[in-house]
Amino acid sequence: MNIELIMAKENAFSLKFDTDWQYAPAPESSDHVEIKARYDLFIGGKFVQPNSKKYFNSINPATEAIVCEIAEANEQDVDDAVKAARKAFPAWTKIGGKERGKYLFRIARLIQERAREFSVIESIDGGKPIRESRDIDIPLAAAHFFYYAGWADKLEYAFPNRKVEPLGVAGQIIPWNFPLLMAAWKIAPALACGNCVVLKPAETTSVTAMKLAELIKDAGLPDGVVNIVTGAGKTGAAIVNHKDVNKIAFTGSTQVGKSIQKSIAGTGKKTTLELGGKAANIIFEDAPIDQAVEGVINGIFFNQGHVCCAGSRLFVQESVKDEVIQKLKIRLETLILGDPMDKNTDIGAINSKEQLKTITDYIKIGEQEGFEKFQANVAIPKKGYFCAPTLFLDVAQSSRLAQEEIFGPVLAIQTFRTVDEAIEKANNTPYGLSAGVWTDKGSKAFNMAAQLKAGVIWANTFNKFDPTSPFGGFKESGFGREGGMHGLAAYLKVS
Ligand code: ADP
Repeated sequence: MNIELIMAKENAFSLKFDTDWQYAPAPESSDHVEIKARYDLFIGGKFVQPNSKKYFNSINPATEAIVCEIAEANEQDVDDAVKAARKAFPAWTKIGGKERGKYLFRIARLIQERAREFSVIESIDGGKPIRESRDIDIPLAAAHFFYYAGWADKLEYAFPNRKVEPLGVAGQIIPWNFPLLMAAWKIAPALACGNCVVLKPAETTSVTAMKLAELIKDAGLPDGVVNIVTGAGKTGAAIVNHKDVNKIAFTGSTQVGKSIQKSIAGTGKKTTLELGGKAANIIFEDAPIDQAVEGVINGIFFNQGHVCCAGSRLFVQESVKDEVIQKLKIRLETLILGDPMDKNTDIGAINSKEQLKTITDYIKIGEQEGFEKFQANVAIPKKGYFCAPTLFLDVAQSSRLAQEEIFGPVLAIQTFRTVDEAIEKANNTPYGLSAGVWTDKGSKAFNMAAQLKAGVIWANTFNKFDPTSPFGGFKESGFGREGGMHGLAAYLKVS
């Protein structure tokens, strides 16, 4: 039997796999793609120039060309956005869940209608293969709006016999690896629960967030319910430290997550932090090996490995090590690296020059530590930021390659003999976001799920996401859950 499961620790698991993210037949998506030369801030339902008067460039990481200019919001701009959100809050709460749900459905539907445009822009601005933007990021972003639209008028069923109230103004800070999808993860549940938001996208990938602002305006959402401010860490810090923000939802690095937690300690702001990861992908000897190899490839090379839940550590049972490694090497050679806009591309561009440096520094560390390296023999384009898919074999447990998040297409491979050894090694990191188990035995998959200290466990699959399934970490991978019914609790006062 071939079972595929997503197991979220908090509740049951979802057992659905050819997920239909459409929810409704998708309308024909328009061919129109428009990127403005310059994007302002979206505050109180209007596009406004930043008080700072400053703009920065967004770069296409596959060509190094400038995509457009993005406004840099300062403290005053953030304050304006928070004020706009606060002003919109009473009416937004008062209209009730049924009406709020209608707006969310409308946004979901408009994302579907403009799916092609969003996919193209996501790949131009962020470097991810168009196939992934088209088939995963954008449909899944729409799916989150659909899913939370459905909850908006059913909050009392989610929390029976309890009083639920929205928190107020939510400050939301997102990373560059899934720009539109992370915006949807954050905005949809917040709005469904009756909050207003100030969202900041990452500085290298702001364009689809600004396109979302245009779409939100077209959807007729009341002014100020969603505000989008752009900028880098300082802008994020201004949101975190703003006195009139009631909730901080952050997805990003563990380092910034820790600093955010320190800054808001004692302020009473509700928080969810979704931080780094170093997931173990564990192949037992009874696993369907070909399927597992494919899952390992997807686990680490999906989105160039810019995935917090990436399967960046592979544990192979020793009896099947030679077979798995040989098959992995053969598969690696077939991966197509290059132009993100080519629908056959498997591995696109690294998101930024800085990230490419981080990844290549880790590759050097692996070489210096003497681990066997295997890289696919791919041509690296002359322009742009690219990194060949890389394996390191027999990596020591204590090595930085096995312990630290690289956030790139680099897999650290280790072996194990027994179930206990696999669990012990897999849990031996500061992180605990996700893990994967490949086995033919359901009982083994459940035993592993119970013992692995990670928020999401995939069995015989990897990197599968669904709006119904809660997502979040243990240990230094953060706390709080997004997605599913648990994602509602993060945006409500339940008494
Ligand atoms: P990554 O390593 O993925 O770039 P970061 O944690 O640096 O992750 O960035 C994630 C998001 O957090 C981005 O939107 C970034 O601008 C923002 N950010 C960076 N530093 C801070 C900070 N000190 N306070 C709040 N937000 C920040």
